[in-house]
Amino acid sequence: MMQLPGGLYIDGVLDKRFLFKPVTGQLEMALSESALLANSLPARVTKILSEALEMLAGDVVSEKQVRALSVGDRQFLMHRLAIHIDDALLWLTARCGECGEAFDISLRLSELPVKLAGDAFPATVVEMPSGRLKVRVPTGDDQESIASVRDDSRAMQMLLTRLISFEITTAEDEVFDLASLDEAQLTTIETAVEAMAPEVASEMATHCPHCEMENRIPISPYGCMTRSVGELFSEIHALAANYHWSEQEILALPRGRRHTYLSLLGRQQGMQSRGNHVDTGWP
Ligand SMILES: [Zn+2]
Repeated sequence: MMQLPGGLYIDGVLDKRFLFKPVTGQLEMALSESALLANSLPARVTKILSEALEMLAGDVVSEKQVRALSVGDRQFLMHRLAIHIDDALLWLTARCGECGEAFDISLRLSELPVKLAGDAFPATVVEMPSGRLKVRVPTGDDQESIASVRDDSRAMQMLLTRLISFEITTAEDEVFDLASLDEAQLTTIETAVEAMAPEVASEMATHCPHCEMENRIPISPYGCMTRSVGELFSEIHALAANYHWSEQEILALPRGRRHTYLSLLGRQQGMQSRGNHVDTGWP
């Protein structure tokens, strides 16, 4: 059973378990079409993970649950999903920040380090002159709610307002006033959040082969969203034409089985065309 670096609290118990569905054409299609169905990157991640997960925290998967996951867990899951689909060696081209020369680096997503959630995850109490504040890690819900805010500093303010509250609130609808915190106090809060938030490495350190300077190469956790469905449509076409299965039936096949049928078809056609070669006399 695979485990999240953070997890979800279900009835007071932290549950880290998750399981992906087998890779089918349906999942590959959902990945590529998610761009059309969601109006922001966080909403797209929610759609993709809801489609790809078989089980989350011991439960059937809902979008609500996927939104409740910490941002670190969601990024971790997007990484794991890319690995689940294909743990290929990725080649990236980077340009050295020092000498400007281009160079290639290779990596496997499964080898990137993952930071587990801290003991306090997902919320902790921070002492401030204005009182004891409860601070929690950001979730997919938080990301989706600020996704449409174009101004970065405004978005950050909205996010912090969502993450910070008084430990003991006197009124139901009491909203924490961010303006009561100075720069240093905000830094203390950010440090507390970082200490407990799970995280996937978002960059990789490597030395430029030309000048030996260390470069930090950004690695997107959302790489699998840019996968193209590639051959999927021609594969559906070949199987539908030969076996007369419906599109839905073909998309539901685990990828390995789809490819087995395709290679059987390919072999059959190869034999036929070899026969033709003899008939026509072509080399
Ligand atoms: Zn260089």
